[in-house]
Amino acid sequence: MTPQRALVAGGAGFIGSHLCDTLLDEGYRVYCIDNFGSGRSGNIDHLLDNPRFELQEVDIRQPLALPPVDEIYHLASRASPQDFTDFPVRIALTNTEGTRNLLDHAVACEAKMLFASTSEVYGDPKVHPQEESYTGNVNIRGPRGCYDESKRFGETLTVAYEQEYDLDVRTARIFNTYGPRMRPDDGRVIPNFVTQALTGRDLTVYGDGSQTRAFCFVDDLIRGLRRLMDAEDLQGEVVNIGSEQEVSINELAETVLSLCDTDSGLTHKPLPEDDPAKRRPDLTKARDILGFEPEVDLKNGLERTIEYVKTTHKASASPMLGE
Ligand code: NAD
Ligand code: UDP
Repeated sequence: MTPQRALVAGGAGFIGSHLCDTLLDEGYRVYCIDNFGSGRSGNIDHLLDNPRFELQEVDIRQPLALPPVDEIYHLASRASPQDFTDFPVRIALTNTEGTRNLLDHAVACEAKMLFASTSEVYGDPKVHPQEESYTGNVNIRGPRGCYDESKRFGETLTVAYEQEYDLDVRTARIFNTYGPRMRPDDGRVIPNFVTQALTGRDLTVYGDGSQTRAFCFVDDLIRGLRRLMDAEDLQGEVVNIGSEQEVSINELAETVLSLCDTDSGLTHKPLPEDDPAKRRPDLTKARDILGFEPEVDLKNGLERTIEYVKTTHKASASPMLGE
């Protein structure tokens, strides 16, 4: 049987590289494209010898000349709030012009497409937990607007293509996800806390640390994405995927400290503008239509992440870990 062909845009990134692994394990032929803005070749080097894996350096904001495929996973976008300050135009155009280019390719080769949207479309939510019908509270002109609002417009484009071209496109609203292969200098809270704890520096808690998030381990997320792509009759659907285990940033810091053998303490820094006060997905829809249930609890996921960072540290003596 001819293998199914999948295109993974952003495949050299944190989530994208795990998805490439899973698709190859399932027997797919995988075309990975990435502009290596925030992605790393180290995430996919182990795949380069696989005859069913192909890598192309491509920026999805440019006109695309790509092979026909059966499925397109659009994960290409920087996702760290730290990058929103440095690359706002690139991020805004990746999620709009880039999404348009991938949607056009999906129409041209009659592929199914999955768009990686985000819990950021809910902004600083007034409704808790967030369900898919909530239309959000985004500051379109604030420091997160380049990301939040472009993901919202990316979603609008998917709806328009579904209506006008009858395209089978599905959208995952991904909530905070973590695990091995996050860049230590990514700026997001778990890589920051883990590298700080492992190098004996104080953990930087922004604000008073009472803000909450629910952190999803990457293996659970990948299972959710695969189910969303595979399920029958979900054309045009949008589904939250994440974990419901909501913790404050103070609780997260204490958990990381307790899992690392460290002398680190806590230091407080100002809360960034528009930082959402709380966030947790309502997973009712994911349960109902995908049978999705997160399996890895925070402590276990953090242990696996810490182990990965320690091993990588030993192997590469990463400068991000203070060497
Ligand atoms: P990441 O930065 O590790 O991966 C993104 C990848 O996309 C990188 O490899 C980057 O080089 C590539 N990329 C960016 N712009 C591109 C462009 N114009 N052309 C080609 N490639 C480009 O981030 P991640 O955490 O793996 O996020 C993957 C996707 O999931 C993103 O779309 C992000 O918005 C979404 N998401 C992630 C989270 C999370 O918590 N990790 C939460 C919500 C949504
Ligand atoms: N945060 C923190 N210290 C850090 C990095 C982040 O206290 O070193 C906080 C941040 O202010 C936010 C939460 O942790 O309230 C999650 O931040 P992250 O950047 O990981 O993702 P976000 O949910 O904001 O997109």
